[in-house]
Amino acid sequence: MATKREYYEVLGVPRNAAEAEIKKAYRRLAMKHHPDRNPDDKQAEDQFKEVQEAYNVLSDERKRSAYDQFGHAGVNTSAAGGAGGFSGGFGDIFDSVFGDIFGGGARGGKRVYRGADLRYDLEMNLEEAVAGTTVKIRVPNLISCESCGGSGARKGSSPVTCPTCNGLGQVRMSQGFFSVQQTCPQCRGQGRTIKDPCPTCHGKGRVRENKTISVKVPPGVDSGDRIRLTGEGEAGESGGPPGDLYVHVAVRDHPIFTRDGADLHCDIPVSFVTATLGGELEIPTLEGRVKLHIPPETQSGKLFRLRGKGVRSVRTSSKGDLLCQVVIETPVNLTRRQKELLAEFDTSMQSDGKKHSPLEHSWLDGVKKFFDGIKG
Ligand SMILES: [Zn+2]
Ligand SMILES: [Zn+2]
Repeated sequence: MATKREYYEVLGVPRNAAEAEIKKAYRRLAMKHHPDRNPDDKQAEDQFKEVQEAYNVLSDERKRSAYDQFGHAGVNTSAAGGAGGFSGGFGDIFDSVFGDIFGGGARGGKRVYRGADLRYDLEMNLEEAVAGTTVKIRVPNLISCESCGGSGARKGSSPVTCPTCNGLGQVRMSQGFFSVQQTCPQCRGQGRTIKDPCPTCHGKGRVRENKTISVKVPPGVDSGDRIRLTGEGEAGESGGPPGDLYVHVAVRDHPIFTRDGADLHCDIPVSFVTATLGGELEIPTLEGRVKLHIPPETQSGKLFRLRGKGVRSVRTSSKGDLLCQVVIETPVNLTRRQKELLAEFDTSMQSDGKKHSPLEHSWLDGVKKFFDGIKG
């Protein structure tokens, strides 16, 4: 190599450039000169190596200060750009800056498969959700095979190095513009294949089994809440760690209460006589009955708030209210005598003009004005 260029010059940044600036410059140049974008271009390859080397030093605080003091002599540059080519060497830095846009998450090395997460839908009624409960659930699951200890190879044998990738778990493939490191299709990245499969799990290392798990449901859960049981998901492949089990809570509709966060709502039917004269009603709450005083001349739709008779929230531990809405019930199945009484009552009401039903009269006035307006 002829005279080595300054690292700052290579990345096109000033000597006092901040870390972010260096990284940005590196990203741009590495993309530009990346060998996958410039196949069979020796010059691009060299430039790529040069950029790689410069970034390797300048992105490392210790190396950078040594370089600032002593120049190229201050840092050992053979690791980044020297002989031996970069095909295996650049992975680490490159991946850490670019994520997995080139390699689909493949970072050289073998892949360990974490087991899949599982979902279980747990239905419960409102009372259980409010009070909390413990339930036993049966979950069909994949667990690690006991016969082979999860390796998938027959007892006494062990998996062999994969011949396709020579145990690397990765193969290089051309994919249009890029040539890409891909997970080896034969061993699926594990680097090993099984010659003599375990008869119990047929080489999978895992077997199906129904597992009974006890789930503690905290008080106050609501539909859509998830309870996570760490490590209760599927067993990992080839000894990988297990996934998690997520229990999704669904609370069934309640015949009386509907829930809105920490509050409960309910309709309370009230006879028009009680609504008119006032009275006392027994109201159901989740903790038992309470008395509710209905004042005289209560109108339909009136809301009564019973503080603290709602649900204790699982997150805030504060307690919501119970909101009771009055629904005036029209009497049905009346006898002739009862109807006569009502007719008599109505006549008596009419003789007093508007004073007994202000709502009805102001509404009727509004309707009249509306039609007058249309007639213009
Ligand atoms: Zn392979
Ligand atoms: Zn097995």
